[in-house]
Amino acid sequence: MMSARVLFSASTTFALLNGCATSVDTAALGTIEVITLRHSYNNSHLVRRGDRAFLVDAGKPEDAPALLESIRAAGTDPATLAAVIITHGHADHVGAVPALQKLGVKVVVGKGDAAMVGRGSNDALCPTSFIARQRHEDDEKLPFEPFKPDVLVDGPLALEPLTGIPGWIDPLAGHTEGSLVVNVGESADRAAVSVTLVGDLVRGAIGGPGAEVHFYMCDLADNRRDISALLTSLAPNAQHVFPGHFGPLDREDLEDVLSDLPESN
Ligand SMILES: [Zn+2]
Repeated sequence: MMSARVLFSASTTFALLNGCATSVDTAALGTIEVITLRHSYNNSHLVRRGDRAFLVDAGKPEDAPALLESIRAAGTDPATLAAVIITHGHADHVGAVPALQKLGVKVVVGKGDAAMVGRGSNDALCPTSFIARQRHEDDEKLPFEPFKPDVLVDGPLALEPLTGIPGWIDPLAGHTEGSLVVNVGESADRAAVSVTLVGDLVRGAIGGPGAEVHFYMCDLADNRRDISALLTSLAPNAQHVFPGHFGPLDREDLEDVLSDLPESN
């Protein structure tokens, strides 16, 4: 099923700043717009509906200037973002948080990752592939500026009171203790959730379609349970899946990746 992919335009904008390139893809999904800001290998997503907007994930520390510029280039003043929701506290997802916080943007983090972001260094990573084993040491030690979240999420949290856009922020511990999934729809009803922003629950394949098990995951059976919970109860009708790396994906891609994961360890 190709719906998410065909709705995507090709890369539309390049922002070149400080040697960093951020390419931008826009998906219009009903009244919801998801603008994927691609850094070197990691994504941030600007989610908009009407005049409301929030950001999911904030790149690596060196991505921060290009990220802020690409948000402006997309027509949103970063200072007007209702929130930046960090799917988890790894260095490649939190880089621009201090800059956004200085602009007055509320920072939302899963409670289980509060210690990690307060320390400015990643927890231990468990590589799942040859590529990840090659990158492991560099990825694990990548530092970032510590910060104190404005909102800590420790259970399902309604999105609309926080951002003006309906949906849910749902904890799905696994990739990290405080990992979050952001579920967005035309109303707060779970059945109306059409878009899910999954952070590192899965990743997109490198340079092609489809989903793969993330580079770093310590408990693969738990990862399978989390993906199943997302598909069956948290976002039972979501078709459009936006991961933290590569993508976009669709519902069938998430279903396919289940077959790569064990039912028990
Ligand atoms: Zn991660």
